[in-house]
Amino acid sequence: MTTPTRVLVLNSGSSSVKYQLLDMRDDRRLAQGLVERIGEETSRLVHTPLLAGGGGKRERTGPIADHAEALKLVSEELAADGLGLDSPELAAIGHRVVHGGLRFTAPTVIDDAVLAEIERLVPVAPLHNPANLVGIRTATALRPDLPQVAVFDTAFHTTMPEAAARYAIDVETADAHRIRRYGFHGTSHAYVSRETARLLGKAPEEVNVIVLHLGNGASASAVRGGRCVDTSMGLTPLEGLVMGTRSGDVDPAVTFHLMRVAGMSADEIDVLLNKRSGLVGLCGDNDMREIRRRIDEGDERAALAFDVYVHRLKKYIGAYYAVLGRVDAVAFTAGVGENAAPVREAAVAGLEELGLAVDAGLNAVRSDEARIVSPEYARVAVAVVPTDEELEIARQSYALVREGSSGAHEQDTEK
Ligand code: ADP
Repeated sequence: MTTPTRVLVLNSGSSSVKYQLLDMRDDRRLAQGLVERIGEETSRLVHTPLLAGGGGKRERTGPIADHAEALKLVSEELAADGLGLDSPELAAIGHRVVHGGLRFTAPTVIDDAVLAEIERLVPVAPLHNPANLVGIRTATALRPDLPQVAVFDTAFHTTMPEAAARYAIDVETADAHRIRRYGFHGTSHAYVSRETARLLGKAPEEVNVIVLHLGNGASASAVRGGRCVDTSMGLTPLEGLVMGTRSGDVDPAVTFHLMRVAGMSADEIDVLLNKRSGLVGLCGDNDMREIRRRIDEGDERAALAFDVYVHRLKKYIGAYYAVLGRVDAVAFTAGVGENAAPVREAAVAGLEELGLAVDAGLNAVRSDEARIVSPEYARVAVAVVPTDEELEIARQSYALVREGSSGAHEQDTEK
């Protein structure tokens, strides 16, 4: 019998499922897709076969009641490409799970105890963990015999020292409610810091990297020798950098001020800071392309939003430079980081004394490849490193099930 080598990666949100099927022999993507607006009348599934001869994108619209129906349709689409979920070539299903608390420091094969722990973490991740759980339960019902692996967004950050992870609040209160800095986007920070080392021709253990993951959500991390020592998101993904719709750092007193002075409720302030702040709050747009276009037309609010965004980014570069002491590279990734040359340029402008600069020509080049955009003479490499969270989840899931199923056997045969 052939060894199964495929991994299905599922990223389940409250009303969406993103998926990719990969073959781990050569990291090849076989198919990918998205189901959105689950539970509404206008649900949509977009499936893209990526095998040669698989044909173009296929789309279904119309109501999809729940995640179970969504996954059933995904399974049908995959089956139409000869890649059905019943295939013996499927080795595992890898699930992105947002909050793993302190207990999950590595990818984990899911069993009842793991499910219970992910459930226990719902109070600290009320939006994400319930959706992730639905995805896991649905996939398990579909293939109960298959290893389901959880890959946690928080795992990479569990190496943070207490000095970085603790908020300076009463210890008993903090511990009673599990209030501390967990960090998110860990799969991306892990992948990008490793790829950056590779780009520099070094082992991850040899390099210190500041990773700037700038998507709709945005976070920075300080990575020393492959281990995270600080990151900008905290108890929730709200802390840190200015994001598309989230404020990032604000004085916590803003919250009670709004309660007392504006009569807003906790839920209303939650929505304000998570959905109506950041770039969108500052200028009405959260897409950096649109903001740049408006700036070119002389729009002052767009210029202000850009400046606030870049100022915060620069502050974190400086802070993590100090945390690391020596920095080998600053790596930009995700939608804004990979594509917005003006953000990269502005973020390191004036930091020549720290060994940081971009080469205008290199920075302007558009490419999907990992690349260095700093000039030859710069002490610190400024890199653009496309992130690939799905590949990282697939790799981690596959490594885990291979270890579990054949580790002992491989040791035997090595003798
Ligand atoms: P998500 O956090 O949703 O995964 P992405 O990493 O895909 O987000 O980033 C999405 C953001 O990337 C967009 O909102 C937009 O601001 C930015 N972006 C995408 N393409 C470009 C581009 N060509 N130039 C500037 N910004 C871009």
